[in-house]
Amino acid sequence: MTVREPMPLQDPSERAQNFNEVALGYSEEQAVAEAMRCLECKNPKCVDGCPVNVDIPGFIAQMKENNFDDAIATIKLTNSLAAVCGRVCPQETQCEQMCVLAKKGEPVAIGRLERFCADNERKNGVTPPVRAEQTGRSVAVVGAGPAGLTAAADLARGGHAVTVFEALHDTGGVLTYGIPEFRLPKSIVKEEVDYIKQLGVDVKVNYIIGKIKTLDQLRADFDAVFLGTGAGLPKFMGIEGENLNGVYSANEFLARVNLMKAYDFPVYDTPIKRGKRVMVVGGGNVAMDAARSALRLGADEVSIIYRRSEAELPARREEVENAKEEGIIFRLLTNPVSILEGDNMTVRGIECVKMELGEADGSGRRSPVPVEGSEHIIDADVIIIAIGTSPNPMILSGSEGLEVDSRGLMVVDDSGTTSIGNVCAGGDAVTGAATVISAMGAGKVAASTINDHLENN
Ligand code: FAD
Ligand code: SF4
Repeated sequence: MTVREPMPLQDPSERAQNFNEVALGYSEEQAVAEAMRCLECKNPKCVDGCPVNVDIPGFIAQMKENNFDDAIATIKLTNSLAAVCGRVCPQETQCEQMCVLAKKGEPVAIGRLERFCADNERKNGVTPPVRAEQTGRSVAVVGAGPAGLTAAADLARGGHAVTVFEALHDTGGVLTYGIPEFRLPKSIVKEEVDYIKQLGVDVKVNYIIGKIKTLDQLRADFDAVFLGTGAGLPKFMGIEGENLNGVYSANEFLARVNLMKAYDFPVYDTPIKRGKRVMVVGGGNVAMDAARSALRLGADEVSIIYRRSEAELPARREEVENAKEEGIIFRLLTNPVSILEGDNMTVRGIECVKMELGEADGSGRRSPVPVEGSEHIIDADVIIIAIGTSPNPMILSGSEGLEVDSRGLMVVDDSGTTSIGNVCAGGDAVTGAATVISAMGAGKVAASTINDHLENN
């Protein structure tokens, strides 16, 4: 059994001090050697594990022939964000988990091969797409994150006039304002969005639906609507001290780092508190990104505070390992009780309690239970809260009849259709915070529903 080609990485001590990409990408030799490991299965399970059904053995077979142009064309048939997915998709729980080689050893590094093909195309100049013949029908897409962008691309390929409305001043959703530069360079997101624009998609930024126009007005102006508004409203713990100066939600902190370009200091002098001792509460990808960004902004010490044990950390394994290598401290089985006030409403520390794992809860994970008398204080000057998000309700203002559940998530059927006939929805706005590829998959399902609907009505 051959072993997987390792991903070349920036050295941990160097990368902890810069925002350049951590993973450097395969060389051509490595990419072909890794492609050679694929068995080109007749019944490829890997494809079943891909929410956008990329023809994985098909593009890998083309790579084996050094035919990288056709390989990227094969990927792009179903995935308009290949360079993004090749970097941030959790392949280990999707296509690679299903790869037949995973049963006996290491699966084919499908994500790294996808990234190689996309990067190789960018290096050599992207071939502009051919625009579809126009149908004369129009579709509004709300939100320029992975769900909205994918739906927009598929709807434009269907020949409809697509307009994307985005609340922020830039496109990409979480890809731009959330995931940091060292995991996903913004220039790559921009190039992938440019490709979608070349399909004929018109993008209007600084345009909040629910404020500038309502959903009901969009329904009057367009033949169909797709809602990909995400889940960008941060949750807080509801403990004392959360209003102090130096407490951030991870969303705000990362938006300041990414969207407002605090990572590019001193070119941009973004207002952000660069802490010396930073505590990040949470154990997901968002928490890892916030902790590693705080370190790169110059903190002396950054810790993750997580109430369960290492085995339950929801972040990608690769990101946990990268964070550890860079020196992030993991304070596991620890839960905050209150944030302590210093001078002038600033943060001076966080009081925590130790936890132990009890019985499994509804999600199958063992519930953390506080250990009596284990309260302790950790000095800190910045606290970042990364315990989850929920959908922003702004879209609901002026959207007569749009059904949401008790958590504010839009209710859709299997075709992605909401409670309003010509309005579909998908991505985090429907599922709650999930993954880039699941949002893209939902965008594809909804676009197919709208394409069918417009063809038949
Ligand atoms: P979003 O990306 O949130 O995009 C929604 C867009 O809609 C936003 O641009 C928003 O401004 C806009 N919008 C909202 N309301 C309105 C309105 N009323 N009018 C107009 N526009 C509106 N997933 C992975 O697979 N791998 C990772 O490594 C990973 N890391 C992550 C790291 C961070 C820090 C975060 C926050 C998330 C991460 N995720 C990761 C999750 C992933 O990014 C999301 O699941 C995905 O972006 C959801 O896509 P979406 O299109 O549904 O929503
Ligand atoms: Fe190749 Fe694995 Fe897919 Fe089989 S399951 S085609 S070996 S990537």
